[in-house]
Amino acid sequence: MPAISQRAQSLGTENAFVVLAEVTALARQGKDIISFCIGQPDFPAPLHVQEAGIRAIREGKHGYTPSAGIDALREAAAKYMAGMRGGLPIRPEDVVIGAGAKPFIAYAILSTTDHGAGDEVIYPNPGFPIYESQIIACGAKPVPVQLRENRDFAFDPAELEKLITPQTKLLILNYPHNPTGGLLSKKELQTIGEILQKHPQVWIYADEIYSRLCYSGEFFSIAQVPGMYERTIISDGASKTWAMTGWRIGFTSNPVLAPTLTRWITNTDSCASQISQWAALEAINGPQDAAEMMKKSFLDRGKLIVRLLNETPGVTCRTPGGAFYAWPNVTEACRMIGAADSEEFRKRLLHEAGVAVLADIHFGARVPGEGQHVRFSYAASNEMIEKGVARMADFIRKNIRKVA
Ligand code: PMP
Repeated sequence: MPAISQRAQSLGTENAFVVLAEVTALARQGKDIISFCIGQPDFPAPLHVQEAGIRAIREGKHGYTPSAGIDALREAAAKYMAGMRGGLPIRPEDVVIGAGAKPFIAYAILSTTDHGAGDEVIYPNPGFPIYESQIIACGAKPVPVQLRENRDFAFDPAELEKLITPQTKLLILNYPHNPTGGLLSKKELQTIGEILQKHPQVWIYADEIYSRLCYSGEFFSIAQVPGMYERTIISDGASKTWAMTGWRIGFTSNPVLAPTLTRWITNTDSCASQISQWAALEAINGPQDAAEMMKKSFLDRGKLIVRLLNETPGVTCRTPGGAFYAWPNVTEACRMIGAADSEEFRKRLLHEAGVAVLADIHFGARVPGEGQHVRFSYAASNEMIEKGVARMADFIRKNIRKVA
């Protein structure tokens, strides 16, 4: 047999999809499962956005577009991204439209590091698993910066500073953050900016896909910190804000790298779906009621799940500052029921109580000294949240080991 490349064998995955397959298999056997696994809004795309997609089909907008996207969408995305970020000078030609925000993770790493050259990429741990997977597959060295529960899952900028070397080429940031719901505050971002001023060789990939789902005041981007704009690849998109995950539209901007990112798209997807691009244009320019309704609903559900989790034996949960994820600490719950770790806890919770969550190890190596965590995606109805957390509380109570 011909061999599969080392590079392909080094690829990681999103274990959310692996657990999802497990959940689907159990559901197929007739098991009643409440799932908090999947990181996407549980709403359909707004009706006027759906209509725009249908209109594009009917109007014959079926062909390729320029790799960077249709002009109207680049213009709208530039204005939208700038408006969300204190009026940054983002021009339409700085914006590249992709088939989701996800492909830009690889394109950014490929555009800022060389394979096997010892280039280092710093990324948050726990974090979106594709960062580490792509850093390794692209032949760069992954350098995790650890998130700290006592900082509401931000990292300590002093810890970041210690990790930067002359080989550091890219720093990946993600706020609001998947999987913890944590944020980096304006003050923390300013401190990070001051540190990066001393290291001009470092690019920043600002994964701001959850920018509209920020609950504590106005969203603030690292690109707004003096000196950071030119070095920052800002990544945002339609998936989370307008419940369009399956439409696959992301927008990414950088005044220097836009042509390079465009060239990657020419070499891979050619362009994002034209139909989806017209729909995304409507999402940005049309009424925002649906987006605002969804945001409010995530905020309310977040409050509900955090309250319920904090009432659950052996569980404590910080209040997320954004996105739709809760990252409860289950160290004590694991001890109470005799589970070796969060992964054993997750499996038993799924098989014995019918509640599907992800474990911390699905988002990177467990942070030493930070205990055991699981991730709830609370893009689920209030009823499911109440029922799911009640099942988890019953499961823990029923399984408490009696200490002699
Ligand atoms: N970044 C983060 C942190 C995410 O959570 C996700 C989606 N789960 C993405 C990027 C990718 O989003 P898209 O659907 O736009 O590819």
